[in-house]
Amino acid sequence: MTNNVVVITGGSRGIGRAAALAAAKRGWRVVIGYATNKKAADEVVATIEASNGKALAVKCDVGEERDILALFKAADGFGTLGALVNNAGIVGQTARVEDLTADRINHMLRVNVTGSFLCAREAVKRMSTKHGGKGGVIVNISSVAATLGSANTYVDYAASKGAIDTFTTGLSNEVAAEGIRVVGIRPGLIDTDIHASGGEPDRHHRLAKTVPMQRVGTADEIANAIVWLLSDEASYVAGMTMNVSGGR
Ligand code: NAP
Repeated sequence: MTNNVVVITGGSRGIGRAAALAAAKRGWRVVIGYATNKKAADEVVATIEASNGKALAVKCDVGEERDILALFKAADGFGTLGALVNNAGIVGQTARVEDLTADRINHMLRVNVTGSFLCAREAVKRMSTKHGGKGGVIVNISSVAATLGSANTYVDYAASKGAIDTFTTGLSNEVAAEGIRVVGIRPGLIDTDIHASGGEPDRHHRLAKTVPMQRVGTADEIANAIVWLLSDEASYVAGMTMNVSGGR
């Protein structure tokens, strides 16, 4: 791998952390973004370095364009960019649509949608053969919520992930001929801290019975799909979003 730097937003915890560890094992030099939790981000870097991998943690709130520019600037100093995992994402507190404020909806879209667009923009500028790059891969982390709608919970979140699915289709069609594969993953109910952020830490366990496989998934199970999509084994996979959801 010569273009072997991968940028993973929200790489300090949960799915992003698992993806960072899995990517490092496969030889990627990993640049992880984190929002606030420097301690968690430093732990990911230390874990990777302990196995002789290379990693760098950069504070990057994807709701802030200047943070995104700083993240990619730091990545430029780490090697040649070959991949982006648009993983950072948030949910709000459980609420019905009639109780949502404009501020909440705008913040959700700013982090989950605008952040992913701007990170992809920076990645395309560096990886597209049209701009002298060597090609690469962009993996957008969506959610099965995009297809289910998350009624009575967080329709704003679900709609933000619906936008991500459309973004994956459109961006792929735009850059596939320039050496960039754009793909997506829709995780199902995964055992991470995100459910606590929505005010219900056990939500995924409560809903496990609605999963055809009758269990929640692990962050590692999503990470395995991510690193496969990043690899040459997925060299003819583009423009699609894959459910990794136990059949849900
Ligand atoms: P998580 O455990 O809550 O971890 C969130 C990660 O994103 C942390 O590294 C956090 O950084 C970072 N982050 C939060 N807000 C950010 C912001 N504004 N800018 C940049 N980074 C930010 O979440 P997760 O469950 O791993 O979710 C990762 C992705 O998978 C999200 O896009 C989520 O929507 C999607 N997903 C998750 C599930 C699930 O069941 N877990 C299901 C479907 C889809 P700090 O450590 O600094 O806070």
